[in-house]
Amino acid sequence: MRAHPAGPRHGDQLHDAVPLAPVSDLGFLDRSVWATGVERDHDGVLRVAGMDVRDLAAEFGTPAIFLDESDFRGRCKAFRSAFRGGDVYYASKAFLTSAIARWIAEEGLGLDVATGGELELAVRAGFPPERILMHGNNKSVVELAAALDARVGRIVLDSHEEIARLGFLAEARGVRAKVLVRVTVGVEAHTHEFIATAHEDQKFGFSLAGGDAAEAVRRVLALPQLDLVGLHSHIGSQIFDTAGFEVAAHRVVALASQIRDEHRLEMSELNLGGGLGIAYVTGDDPAELETVAVSLRQIVQREAAECGLAVPRLAVEPGRAIVGPSAFTLYEVGTIKDVEFGTGQHRSYVSVDGGMSDNIRTALYDAEYTVVLASRASTAGPRLSRVVGRHCESGDVVVKDAWLPADLAPGDLLAVAATGAYCRAMASNYNMVGRPPVVAVGAAGARPILRRETVEDLLALDVGD
Ligand SMILES: *Cc1c(COP(=O)(O)O)cnc(C)c1O
Repeated sequence: MRAHPAGPRHGDQLHDAVPLAPVSDLGFLDRSVWATGVERDHDGVLRVAGMDVRDLAAEFGTPAIFLDESDFRGRCKAFRSAFRGGDVYYASKAFLTSAIARWIAEEGLGLDVATGGELELAVRAGFPPERILMHGNNKSVVELAAALDARVGRIVLDSHEEIARLGFLAEARGVRAKVLVRVTVGVEAHTHEFIATAHEDQKFGFSLAGGDAAEAVRRVLALPQLDLVGLHSHIGSQIFDTAGFEVAAHRVVALASQIRDEHRLEMSELNLGGGLGIAYVTGDDPAELETVAVSLRQIVQREAAECGLAVPRLAVEPGRAIVGPSAFTLYEVGTIKDVEFGTGQHRSYVSVDGGMSDNIRTALYDAEYTVVLASRASTAGPRLSRVVGRHCESGDVVVKDAWLPADLAPGDLLAVAATGAYCRAMASNYNMVGRPPVVAVGAAGARPILRRETVEDLLALDVGD
């Protein structure tokens, strides 16, 4: 199976040169794809929270990522409300800055961190440590010690070595750590498909199949300084329905039942991980959040009832579903080339001032995005286009197939929707390019929460000869 942890609809199928039909109104903004504060003005210019993208580009430059704060907070509120009675941990790997950490704290969510760096950011931002959950399949001794010293609320155990290390570190500090055991359930879910096998051939967690997870539980329970509060499973990303979660919950609850029988201990928490999907292009139809939450709760209740277990507290770890739709990337068009392909078909290669350094998902996962002309209205007809970056690599594609106005010209601004998650967070300095800023836009105006990286920043790391 092709690696596509957060990728397109069907990971095994490359979206070949089968262009979609042109949309009738190229200026149309599909509400399912754009942040709530994004709209088109009467003159056809894109605005976010009332601010004209031309002014934003003039002030902050391009490429730049604009994050609609009220959209972001709205999604936090929606998650909190949908999973009332349970816990929502925002997955910081999707995108984290201290402003984001503060918003998450203010909205009452928890924070999932997976490295010492993410933890350090959260701690320095003053995030309540008891609401932090620490992940990672290879947490170093230093990271585990930092997690204990910060008094994080939960540590998710991922290997036998880690159980021993954490036990040792906790004992040395005279503290007791609340832990969950991460279980690999043999379910891999993406969008509308999931595969369920007995084994899962991957690096995370303890496998259920060989009894490894049960053995991990035994070892945790043998260490009095570790307080086992629950089980964790994470089955995939960009998932549109709950069928995969159902199989996962069934298997995890079966382990909880085995733990009850063997150790007379009931698991009080069940963390089903992240992975809830979002719409990147028209036609993407992730299930409604409320529906997902109700369905997950029912699944867990039913599975627990079947095993005669008390219903555990449900936790989820959304990253993409919170920050993904809240942001868009603004690029300036630099060059446009008309290229003939196939038999007499034409495509415009529209080069923008960013690319795979600020959005690697298209190259990495064959991901799809929605792109529109943002800086003006156009009545020109549609032209099949490919939005490409400025890097020295032919795979440097931002949007593989898009219909853009035929009068598109250098200097026009393009906006790519739903770039809040895994874009700036996965950005690189390829070709010695500084990473773009992230600008929070809201009622109080626009302010960078992450400034643009300059060539000076990059040169500062170069120690010379
Ligand atoms: C990546 C990840 C998440 C978040 O995934 P999304 O698809 O962004 O919701 C949550 N939990 C774990 C363990 C992860 O690895």
